[in-house]
Amino acid sequence: MSMPDAAGGDEMKQAKEIEDAEKFNFMATVTKAPKKQIQFADDMQEFTKFPTKSGRRSLSRSISQSSTDSYSSAASYTDSSDDEEGTPREKHQTNSKGSSNFCVKNIKQAEFGRREIEIAEQDMSALISLRKRAQGEKPLAGAKIVGCTHITAQTAVLIETLCALGAQCRWSACNIYSTQNEVAAALAEAGVAVFSWKGESEDDFWWCIDRCVNMDGWQPNMILDDGGDLTHWVYKKYPNVFKKIRGIVEESVTGVHRLYQLSKAGKLCVPAMNVNDSVTKQKFDNLYCCRESILDGLKRTTDVMFGGKQVVVCGYGEVGKGCCAALKALGAIVYITEIDPICALQACMDGFRVVKLNEVIRQMDVVITCTGNKNVVTREHLDRMKNSCIVCNMGHSNTEIDVTSLRTPELTWERVRSQVDHIIWPDGKRVVLLAEGRLLNLSCSTVPTFVLSITATTQALALIELYNAPEGRYKQDVYLLPKKMDEYVASLHLPSFDAHLTELTDDQAKYMGLNKNGPFKPNYYRY
Ligand code: NAD
Repeated sequence: MSMPDAAGGDEMKQAKEIEDAEKFNFMATVTKAPKKQIQFADDMQEFTKFPTKSGRRSLSRSISQSSTDSYSSAASYTDSSDDEEGTPREKHQTNSKGSSNFCVKNIKQAEFGRREIEIAEQDMSALISLRKRAQGEKPLAGAKIVGCTHITAQTAVLIETLCALGAQCRWSACNIYSTQNEVAAALAEAGVAVFSWKGESEDDFWWCIDRCVNMDGWQPNMILDDGGDLTHWVYKKYPNVFKKIRGIVEESVTGVHRLYQLSKAGKLCVPAMNVNDSVTKQKFDNLYCCRESILDGLKRTTDVMFGGKQVVVCGYGEVGKGCCAALKALGAIVYITEIDPICALQACMDGFRVVKLNEVIRQMDVVITCTGNKNVVTREHLDRMKNSCIVCNMGHSNTEIDVTSLRTPELTWERVRSQVDHIIWPDGKRVVLLAEGRLLNLSCSTVPTFVLSITATTQALALIELYNAPEGRYKQDVYLLPKKMDEYVASLHLPSFDAHLTELTDDQAKYMGLNKNGPFKPNYYRY
């Protein structure tokens, strides 16, 4: 396999300096962000206590902050009611080889899950190609990866790729709702130690993570996390495990934020790779994924027609740009709110009216938040909305719309469909609230497999890079994936489009001061 080597020598030093600069900028951004971040088990409840039924309900809400903040993994079609009753923790199940080293809803669903995985593989040809190119070399031989991500057909393709490259994997879910039970069953049947089912209680959630980490005779040496819960658990309960860990790969905004905090406090004891801010994650997952899934989420829940509708999108960052492009293409009249003059100017140049929410709220048919901020849509805005206005959020936390302010006695909540509430005012006005203000696409639709392939390939390369890096290349700090690897991920996906890259001539390369094989842009290039 000819995979790009990470930068070495001066190039490496320069890359690190640039990364440091970017990190600095990132920190500046996050310090301005709302404080509310991960709420961990200790803050809420010990995982050994079995919660009551009502407790489960409220707890599952309370962990949604950390367990729904990553987007590159799809929601699941699995309905938890399609299975036998009872918690999987009380069932003894074995796969066809007699192993019981897993805990899933129903191992009998393995065949159905295998079909789902095979369907996902069709649109993840780059990851499969990485699997084929590298499986001779087994770059992950000896790697013992403990993972905590959404467990869907697409992540199963990633997990099986890691196994094909030589790794042993133990896996739990980073979200209590997103596990596709049949996929978890297929993984368990294939010999992966998977502990996850759709509709876990919070107690189950931490129990599953614990079962992955705490195993006699098996100690992880790599972590793949999505949200930071697994990393936090290891820090809290098994700090000695870090003596063997070669690196952490983290995908989500929240988890990355936490890693930078640890690094700043001097408490990060292993190198970590920030996948969230890789170009191939941010510019594809945030932008293109949302461009497609915003429509999917809105259509599935409301059957709304967009042509001629007045829509306001709060935030014109990557997610906002994706949403607006899709809505505009369907003939919606789109307004933007922004706090940043650069993004506001971009919106103007793209042909959108930039307004204050107050100015337009009365006329809007649809209100969408994607700022990563809080209280963007307040009760005052909600009071002024017209009848049948649809309100939803595409940002990572459920703080963007002040949903709590709607839980007052004068308003009536009517659940009209799964994830769709009508909030009824005393005069009969109805506002249509989707997913109780949580991430619309993750809660109400799926996200495109192809985009997940890009993120999954980035994750696989980050693991390979950290696991194989010579001593000293990475210190106890948070790193971005080297630019050459970002370019490699992109190049693996080009054949899907039969796209033909132009090669630099020697003369051109010299003129531009570039290596013919990349990297083609400096780290500060914005794309
Ligand atoms: P971004 O930083 O590129 O964009 C956010 C924009 O919101 C910025 O331009 C900012 O200036 C603006 N903003 C902040 N506060 C505002 C306010 N009060 N009113 C109006 N505008 C405001 O971030 P992004 O990549 O677009 O991500 C936005 C959110 O979506 C984040 O929470 C992110 O974690 C989440 N996200 C969601 C998905 C998904 O699939 N739904 C995918 C990726 C990211």
